[in-house]
Amino acid sequence: MQTSNIDREWDVIIVGGGVVGCAVMRKFTLLGARVLLLERGGDILSGASKANSAILHTGFDAPPASVELDCMKRGYEEFLSIHRHFNLPVLKTGAFVVAWDEAQLKALPGIVEKAHQNGIMNVREISVDALYQQEPNLGKGALGAVSVPDECVIDPWSTPLAYMTQAVEHGAKYEFHCEVTHGEFNDDRWTLTTSKGDFRTKIVINCAGINGDIVENICRPSPFTIHPRKGQFLVFDKSAAQSIDAIILPVPTAVTKGVLISKTIFGNLLVGPTAEEQEDRWHAAVSKPMLEDLKQQGTALLPSLINHAVTATYAGLRPATEYKDYQLSCVREKNWLCAGGIRSTGLTSALGIAQVLAELFEMHLNDKIQCSPVQDIHWPKMPNLAQHLTRAYEQPDNGGVVCHCELVTQSEIEAVFASSVPPECIGGLRRRTRVMMGRCNGFYCSSHVNKLIDQNIEQNLSVGDIL
Ligand SMILES: Cc1cc2nc3c(=O)[nH]c(=O)nc-3n(C[C@H](O)[C@H](O)[C@H](O)COP(=O)(O)OP(=O)(O)OC[C@H]3O[C@@H](n4cnc5c(N)ncnc54)[C@H](O)[C@@H]3O)c2cc1C
Repeated sequence: MQTSNIDREWDVIIVGGGVVGCAVMRKFTLLGARVLLLERGGDILSGASKANSAILHTGFDAPPASVELDCMKRGYEEFLSIHRHFNLPVLKTGAFVVAWDEAQLKALPGIVEKAHQNGIMNVREISVDALYQQEPNLGKGALGAVSVPDECVIDPWSTPLAYMTQAVEHGAKYEFHCEVTHGEFNDDRWTLTTSKGDFRTKIVINCAGINGDIVENICRPSPFTIHPRKGQFLVFDKSAAQSIDAIILPVPTAVTKGVLISKTIFGNLLVGPTAEEQEDRWHAAVSKPMLEDLKQQGTALLPSLINHAVTATYAGLRPATEYKDYQLSCVREKNWLCAGGIRSTGLTSALGIAQVLAELFEMHLNDKIQCSPVQDIHWPKMPNLAQHLTRAYEQPDNGGVVCHCELVTQSEIEAVFASSVPPECIGGLRRRTRVMMGRCNGFYCSSHVNKLIDQNIEQNLSVGDIL
């Protein structure tokens, strides 16, 4: 576990350990910089990145010529080129954008045209018959669809963990429970004040997600303001996932991409997200009326859902701003880079954002630090949690199953505490193993898990962040 007697002088400090911060940490570490990541929560993914739809988007529907599209395409490509090295799973489901009324049907050619403009050339309209042939359980009344063959589902939690683990195994450090509150720029260096004391660095990279504008104010009056946009989800039991193969997307409106149905990499079925503006940056609560509405929408799309239990609900906050596009910038005179407003596609684009920030660094700040890229790259392997691949419980010497809902073994839990990035909160343990995330929500296994925590680490895990 990291201790606060950590070095206080760094080349680069990254504020925020969401998926973007983790990807940026990896990139700058592999460039050869001495990197520290500071995260206010008890683990990585304490913000938007812990609660998304987990889709690796092609970018078919992104605003053409936007920074977002550029980052999504780069991120998509880099992820698919490296995921095997990390043992990160990909579920190649494809997606259908389905039209349910005449107005939506009329919008389909425009969706195909935009996809082609964005360079995703295999997107095409298909007939209703072809749609029902591939997805026979869809509700009646579809009028047409667009096929997007290359949309995928990935593991939203092991992916950023892999990025950070690789950085840490190449010498980067991190501090959890460490909120950056102030900063002073003097003599070409930053002194950042945090809840764990001051840290000095040559370059700061703001990856603070939902807090991005507040952290940006440390450098300059923030050119963007975060407007949290909540998305709620229903998670159906694993039995429901057999009802569909592809991701089912609605025709988007000007305001929202709408509610989708998708398998998860863990073998469940997801319905959501909603899109609700709220002031509160810290609490993403689910609400009964919205969940009821999601259930109705879900069962209209997939009537057989009525026979399956909802085993979990969750909500995440998108770090939206007044702008449609990402806010990537470099303030050269203050040695400051920013990845702000990464609202609804950051899981896909994180590696692309890291590439763009590295280019901004090369262009404007590379005289600030001496670094030479890592030559011999080590690829830490992530334990597999994907339902469609072999899991630890199917292998010998696993210590026995601890969580019977999600089939999590003792050896998987013990491995987490011995890993390069052990969690410091319960949510982090759940996201690394899926323990207590099944239909009983930990009712049967939590005391066994507590014993394992006591046996394996000295201090208790904080409970602040449960998901
Ligand atoms: C409902 C929903 C569905 C989505 N679906 C998808 C999808 O299917 N595919 C996809 O690609 N993307 C999706 N996204 C988008 C994706 O989740 C976000 O774009 C991404 O998580 C943003 O990551 P981030 O690192 O910028 O921000 P965050 O994840 O919010 O990370 C910022 C981190 O900074 C920390 N922090 C904040 N202030 C400070 C401070 N002062 N000091 C230290 N640390 C600080 C926070 O605790 C947090 O951990 C979805 C998002 C939501 C909410």
